[in-house]
Amino acid sequence: MKRIGYFAVIFICLFGAGMPTLVGAAPTVFVSILPQKFFVQQISGDLINVEVMVPPGASPHTYEPKPSQMRKLAESRAYFTIGVALEEAWLDRITRINPEMMVVHTEAGIDRMAMSGDHHHEGEQAETDKHGHEQGEQAEGGLDPHIWLSPMLVKQQAEVIWTSLEALDPENAAAYKTNFQRFSDRIDELDGQLKGILEGKKGMKFMVFHPSWGYFARGYDLVQVPVEIEGKSPKPAHLRSLIELARREQITVIFAQPQFSRKSAEVIAREIGAQVVLIDPLGENWFENMTVVANKLGAALR
Ligand code: ZN
Repeated sequence: MKRIGYFAVIFICLFGAGMPTLVGAAPTVFVSILPQKFFVQQISGDLINVEVMVPPGASPHTYEPKPSQMRKLAESRAYFTIGVALEEAWLDRITRINPEMMVVHTEAGIDRMAMSGDHHHEGEQAETDKHGHEQGEQAEGGLDPHIWLSPMLVKQQAEVIWTSLEALDPENAAAYKTNFQRFSDRIDELDGQLKGILEGKKGMKFMVFHPSWGYFARGYDLVQVPVEIEGKSPKPAHLRSLIELARREQITVIFAQPQFSRKSAEVIAREIGAQVVLIDPLGENWFENMTVVANKLGAALR
């Protein structure tokens, strides 16, 4: 019922007041998550107004847009997807209220890997077979959506963003090209920095509640051990095996992220005398955040 209400409001705005033609105003585009806002702005500068769907603190796996966002979406020139669950749930509805909007799939061409923690563990087989495959991100075929946490994959996304902005606003093509090239060079620089920070840590295991760092781990030869299984907190038997593993590997830090519960991470940490450290996959200042995360990982892996 509520949704019918949203649409009524949107239609009144569109046809009652008439389509506002904002001559000279920067076009608005939408992205799903904060790091994407950063990517688009690196290339658009002030020429484009970027709105983000998932606000700070919310999870892109479960977020639902607010009516005020749906109204803004009705006037948005483009939507940059990245393959998070909310798009699957909402993109159809969004394109129905704004059929003119350009939908840019920045995840296109990226070969996504299986979500870490999606496999079955001994002793849990029966349980996961019964319930495991209808939930959250596993409903998307278990592909890992966290492609914004690998510099090399972000470079690929940046190219898609650049060419789309050019198509959207050809008048400013030269600016977008210059900005893209600078962004791309800075990504290479960041990659070099991260390699330096994580030098000598090859093959080492880090334990993290929600497995956001699969592409990051792959890029820098680390091994991500997720606490969460299929988007859910571990059952006692699995928790015990994680505690044993953490002990065996002499793990001193259990990583968690601000958007999810820290409970299981704290249980493991307490058992083995480790610390819980937060790393945020959704930090807006992406360059800074990637360096902060690499430093925290580097310090934890010894
Ligand atoms: Zn996630």
